[in-house]
Amino acid sequence: PGPGNVKVVVRVRPFLPRETAKECINLIAMKANTTTINPPPPLPVSTTATLSGHRQLSTRRNMEPKSFTFDHSFWSCDHKSPASPYADQGHVYDCVGREFLDHNMEGYHTCIFAYGQTGSGKSYTMMGSEAEPGLIPRTCTDLFERIEKMTNANVTCTVRVSYFEVYNEQVRDLLATTKPDAPATSGGAHGQSLHRLKVRESPTEGPYVEDLSEFSVKSANEVLKYLGSGNKARSVAATKMNDVSSRSHAVFTLVVKQVITDPVTDATEEKTSRIRLVDLAGSERANSTGATGQRLREGSNINKSLTTLGRVIAALADNSGGDAPGSPGKSPSKRKAAGGPGSGESVVIPYRDSVLTWLLKDSLGGNSRTAMVACISPTDYDETLSTLRYADQAKSIKTRAVVNQDIVS
Ligand code: ADP
Ligand code: MG
Repeated sequence: PGPGNVKVVVRVRPFLPRETAKECINLIAMKANTTTINPPPPLPVSTTATLSGHRQLSTRRNMEPKSFTFDHSFWSCDHKSPASPYADQGHVYDCVGREFLDHNMEGYHTCIFAYGQTGSGKSYTMMGSEAEPGLIPRTCTDLFERIEKMTNANVTCTVRVSYFEVYNEQVRDLLATTKPDAPATSGGAHGQSLHRLKVRESPTEGPYVEDLSEFSVKSANEVLKYLGSGNKARSVAATKMNDVSSRSHAVFTLVVKQVITDPVTDATEEKTSRIRLVDLAGSERANSTGATGQRLREGSNINKSLTTLGRVIAALADNSGGDAPGSPGKSPSKRKAAGGPGSGESVVIPYRDSVLTWLLKDSLGGNSRTAMVACISPTDYDETLSTLRYADQAKSIKTRAVVNQDIVS
């Protein structure tokens, strides 16, 4: 993949206790950066009819394993195989987070987003736990370590933090409660009071959230406190797939501004970069979670952002003018819809069709270095295959990142 391509990595999580209890079979194999998914073995004929949800299995008997190549394939399933060493949080940070922070320090905007079904490890990868911090806390810590190590007295660095979620196609400020005068409105069925905000688009800055709280932070501890209070405010609701599953898209943003003063001429130069870290809602279809009523409505709106994200990624991949190397099975119908290969920027990218894609416009197809972490379960054939195909398509997207530099005087 070229330097302008979206970096795509895949991570497979360990078996959950309920999967071990049900003696689920591991369908995933990884070798170097290749991920292979094997079809599940067919059930004995006598049981196929009685187990609801497994009826299609018998039609899979002749299916071949499918392999995909990514920038990295992270094996976090078990510690058993020397051929697939376990990728812990530190390893994932070293391979993805650190490089992206390097780009930020050079003045590039970046975005890392986690995609995958509920329970596939998105929050573990982005947030993690206190003992096993994920990409977001590690990025915060590393950023302030770098700032503290800066020896050049002519450079000053300031950092601002904001955190919002897109829930039911509405933007809500996850840090609003930290403002004493915040006007709270009812957040809906789950009973949270959060500030609802509008999305606007500025000709110079692109889409942004109007009136979003933003705080200046001076240490890793301070930014981690904001992260923690935002996480508390995140909407969570139980679904049948996972006891507490995230139904919202969470977008954590750091803006780093470096002001470099020339000691001789006193001229200053500003470099501004935005670090966007996104934990998407579960990608599973609303019907596979057994959702009904309010849950179903949430599901369909969450799907609106995710379906649009899928369409945006498909259109961007087509506009890039070719398949990613080694990507199998790209549908010819999609190419036709996009005007065929090599048709250039012939497709209107439907960013504005959902709140999420509108806000992530720059990160998806514009001025940003972008990475996608596709999180997968080792046991779920349909959802995992669909995530791998999604990730495979994202590989061919090219963004146009530039150093955000201003000569002030
Ligand atoms: P998601 O955010 O995609 O719904 P989670 O991150 O909550 O999924 O992961 C589901 C469960 O699996 C959690 O209990 C989490 O701690 C565990 N888990 C996910 N990925 C890993 C991993 N790489 N190592 C250990 N546990 C993991
Ligand atoms: Mg989650």
